[in-house]
Amino acid sequence: NIQVTKPALTIRLCGPRGFCAGVDRAIQIVVLALKAYGAPVYVRHEIVHNRYVVEGLEAKGAVFVEELDEIPAEHRQQPVVFSAHGVPKSVPEDAQARNLFYLDATCPLVSKVHKQAMRHQRLGRHVVLIGHAGHPEVIGTMGQLPEGTVSLVDTIADAEAYIPADPDNLGYVTQTTLSVDDTAGVIAKLQERFPNLTAPAADSICYATTNRQEAVKEAAPGCDLFIVVGAPNSSNSKRLVEVALRAGARRSILVQRASELNWDEIGQIETLGLSAGASAPEVIVDEIIEAFKQRFSAEIELAITAEETENFLVNRELRAVPLTIE
Ligand code: SF4
Repeated sequence: NIQVTKPALTIRLCGPRGFCAGVDRAIQIVVLALKAYGAPVYVRHEIVHNRYVVEGLEAKGAVFVEELDEIPAEHRQQPVVFSAHGVPKSVPEDAQARNLFYLDATCPLVSKVHKQAMRHQRLGRHVVLIGHAGHPEVIGTMGQLPEGTVSLVDTIADAEAYIPADPDNLGYVTQTTLSVDDTAGVIAKLQERFPNLTAPAADSICYATTNRQEAVKEAAPGCDLFIVVGAPNSSNSKRLVEVALRAGARRSILVQRASELNWDEIGQIETLGLSAGASAPEVIVDEIIEAFKQRFSAEIELAITAEETENFLVNRELRAVPLTIE
């Protein structure tokens, strides 16, 4: 009967972490649509960038498609939900043309960025969108305006190389899930080159992105390892990994499930930082903590930098449907 003492570990748990109000709303919309209209409920693109969430909804009867033409003709009466990232204007137009019933789960904070971009354009400005090429939110924001009226800038190097047709008539917006610090650098470079560049009326980077990055900055200094729970295609989660490294974590990794943890690589650590991207459910954070507790004598220390109270209403059609937790 050998007693093995586990090595001591401090887990610095960030708050806020995990689900934001936009992700929570998008998931509620799919769950409520399944209740109100029955399966299948189609969802265009991963509702949020998280396999666990997607598989959970699939088990309830959601069917994920990339494009509307994948919806079989006999299911045209069933709703199709647009993901939290937002969609180009052509998508609801296409849905109408196909006589589909759609429910838009675009986060209200993404819709706000769409409106700011349209406002710039209405006032005669060429729109500069700061964001990552190919991300669904960027595709959606660009698709609010006619082709050729938005220029995408990602890095400071892009901002240096960008040659606008009319440098005095530019307005910018950004993706909601960027690095706060990197984006400040890109904006500063654009402002230096184009002093008449107009900012959006409100910051485009959302409260959830900002708050999660702040908490990571607080917890990361001196961590031997920093784990961000999130998917490789989740922009805000990837930014948290970068923020952790820059703030002084020795290593930082993105993890989707506890089963991915490579204990040989993790090795002997004394301080672990832990956060989760806006699309990562809390059960996976718990799962990771449990996995560490099996190998370490772990103590949890909270790194809380903000309280979040944001809560977004679901679509009008769904407000009367009771949401019971199963
Ligand atoms: Fe909305 Fe921000 Fe969440 Fe994206 S990360 S869904 S913009 S609250």
